[in-house]
Amino acid sequence: MQSNRSWLGSSFRAGVLALGVAAGYAGFVIAADEATTPSSGVPNQEQKAWHVHERERPQPPVVTPGTFSTPEQPGKPPSDATVLFDGTDLSKWVDKTGKGEAPWKVENGYFEVKKGSGIISTKESFGDCQLHVEWMAPNPPVGKDQDRGNSGIFLMSKFEVQVLDNYKADTYADGMAGAVYGQYPPQVNATRPPGEWQVYDIVFHAPRFKEDGSIDKPARETVFLNGVLVQDDVSLIGPTQHMKLTKWSKMPAKAPIYLQDHGHPVRYRNIWIRPIMSEPPVAPTMDGVAH
Ligand code: MG
Repeated sequence: MQSNRSWLGSSFRAGVLALGVAAGYAGFVIAADEATTPSSGVPNQEQKAWHVHERERPQPPVVTPGTFSTPEQPGKPPSDATVLFDGTDLSKWVDKTGKGEAPWKVENGYFEVKKGSGIISTKESFGDCQLHVEWMAPNPPVGKDQDRGNSGIFLMSKFEVQVLDNYKADTYADGMAGAVYGQYPPQVNATRPPGEWQVYDIVFHAPRFKEDGSIDKPARETVFLNGVLVQDDVSLIGPTQHMKLTKWSKMPAKAPIYLQDHGHPVRYRNIWIRPIMSEPPVAPTMDGVAH
């Protein structure tokens, strides 16, 4: 393996030299040559990192991308997603007791909040994840402020990304659609009119706790609403609370996601999730690279 890497390295160096000389980019040649010195052909095990452009570095898994939704038609999830609702049934969900069937109404490829029935939550627990959810506020709109097309997506049963009809309708900023409820208003109001499908793409990182139960790394969220960035890797200050300050207390690494029954017939379709690998890749070392 070692000799193989050396051969690749030499070959690459020769190619880069020829290309660089021909183009007259002396600086580039020096940088690239140093990057492929023999020592750079070996994974840096001590730092658990890889060198720049290391060919032995494992290839990422292949995923067949999905398709985007249209107003008439939900898109297809990526091939490695866990589908939580595909338009047919709520078999991946349970009722507020956590034991019974989810009682919300399913029809025409969507499901709808059943007023007074309480939350529904996923059977499976999730921590770090990419979550895709589409929702629609009732049309014609009814009510105002927080009493208008209100529902919500609770990551780990504790952190609400607000669902609300605040299209040309006033409410407080940290309670708008795209808000991390009670903590961060969306950067912009990118809602569509009620009666149109709206799309959330959420990247969530669960909180990490020290052994003594104190917070180590707070939960973080990035949220796109209808393709527009509304939360940029915000650091949460604790679980969602209403009308009071929040704080951290130890919780499991994973928990179900639940959808809120706020008494309004909000609809949902095309829900899928991709757990995120628990350990992010370590950045390559830049040893020997002129930069
Ligand atoms: Mg809500």
